[in-house]
Amino acid sequence: MLDELEVLNPATEEVVATVPGATAEDVDAAVVRATHAGRAWAAAAPADRARLLRRFAATVDEHIEELARLEVREAGHTIGNARWEAGNVRDLLDYAAGGVERLNGRQIPVPGGLDITLLEPLGVVGVIAPWNFPMPIAAWGTAPALAAGNAVILKPAETTPLTALRLAELALAAGLPEGLFQVLPGRGDVAGDALVRHPGVAKIVFTGSTRVGKRIMSLCADRVKRVTLELGGKSPNIVFADADVEAAALSAPMSFLDNSGQDCCARTRILVQSSVYDRFLELLGPAVRSVVVGDPADEKTQMGPLISKTQLERVRAYVPDDAPGIRGTAPTGPGFWFPPTVLTGLAADAPAAVEEVFGPVAVVVPFDDEADAVRLANATDYGLSGSIWTRDVGRALRVSGAVAAGNLSVNSHSSVRYWTPFGGYKQSGLGRELGPDALTAFTETKNVFISTESTEA
Ligand code: NAD
Repeated sequence: MLDELEVLNPATEEVVATVPGATAEDVDAAVVRATHAGRAWAAAAPADRARLLRRFAATVDEHIEELARLEVREAGHTIGNARWEAGNVRDLLDYAAGGVERLNGRQIPVPGGLDITLLEPLGVVGVIAPWNFPMPIAAWGTAPALAAGNAVILKPAETTPLTALRLAELALAAGLPEGLFQVLPGRGDVAGDALVRHPGVAKIVFTGSTRVGKRIMSLCADRVKRVTLELGGKSPNIVFADADVEAAALSAPMSFLDNSGQDCCARTRILVQSSVYDRFLELLGPAVRSVVVGDPADEKTQMGPLISKTQLERVRAYVPDDAPGIRGTAPTGPGFWFPPTVLTGLAADAPAAVEEVFGPVAVVVPFDDEADAVRLANATDYGLSGSIWTRDVGRALRVSGAVAAGNLSVNSHSSVRYWTPFGGYKQSGLGRELGPDALTAFTETKNVFISTESTEA
């Protein structure tokens, strides 16, 4: 039976499109096409591959506004964010293109000959993307995989297939060969599962929930299939008394409200040193209440709706009506709206304090000293991101060393740049994406020794 994916506008609940979902047979056929296209691509001159990827980047650049408007409609992202996200795809392609001719092996000194390493493409790479950042996360895997000489099959999330499908059209328009970059919208347990199990797929790059990531990892183990996992987070925002407390408080709202909190790096555990706790909350209240929540297509909007009814119900379940804290406002009526929310006075092990809510909800927790802050920051199975606010350079470095997370920022909330590495500790993930080594994650290293011993008698 053919699955139909209904794409809803999360701000209005209107149907934007209906897209046929791929079946396991569709995945089989896509892998055949990808294998064929990938072989020719891997054999092409590096400069030609780089040129085509730059052309793809330029074509995306010409369609930024169209892609952004589509993302506003299918995902409810604010127009400002959506433009950035489309631009990020262009930048990822340009950056990866710059790596094609620089994907060098090594020459290692050994006695009796010459030892060289070759970085060979893997073949067909499956990229399984979530709905929270459909375009950037699709491109995190796709751009370096293509640049390293692989073919890519991308399975977008059920709720957000439209920008991915448009990117596949733009790739063809830019001149990428048929079959090299294919997008197969479909259900996770159908198309996603078929991609993970397929013997012709050499690597899976998965971004999504820790639950599904664990399942994918165990299925990949069966064939020792390569896998990169970017999973959930419950990131701390640690504010020491010696910090610029005003800057920390005023920047805190958008560190967990951006993308309506549907961000794996959202700083949803705000840990504040006891001596500045009250002052911090006094500043945080008005800052949270002033966040503009509404129509994502309006240039002034800072926060849009949640992605779906399911997500809205999930978020609601974490926030009891009488929970003490700070509440912003959100539209009523159609759409999946939830107001900015900060919970105070929760037990340290309350579900909202330890689980990934994936909505506009943070908790504020006081701490006594540096050791207490590190203990609280690490009291989670996740380890993706975090922020540290202090004016003491030594403390910034000590705490950066002690917090078990892959992406930390001091006196800021930045996490993701396409040219710096990104990934999680503990159950937040496996492997790294982005940054200068992104292409090598899509290669096998082959070591070749050539003897220089004379064979003459
Ligand atoms: P999800 O795990 O439900 O789905 C992610 C993708 O996996 C979707 O394309 C889905 O169709 C597919 N999928 C689902 N079941 C599958 C299966 N059995 N086999 C193969 N594929 C399957 O996650 P979600 O709800 O779409 O995304 C939200 C999650 O993603 C959050 O937990 C968030 O933290 C995480 N995330 C992590 C990062 C990161 O870089 N670490 C970035 C963004 C989002």
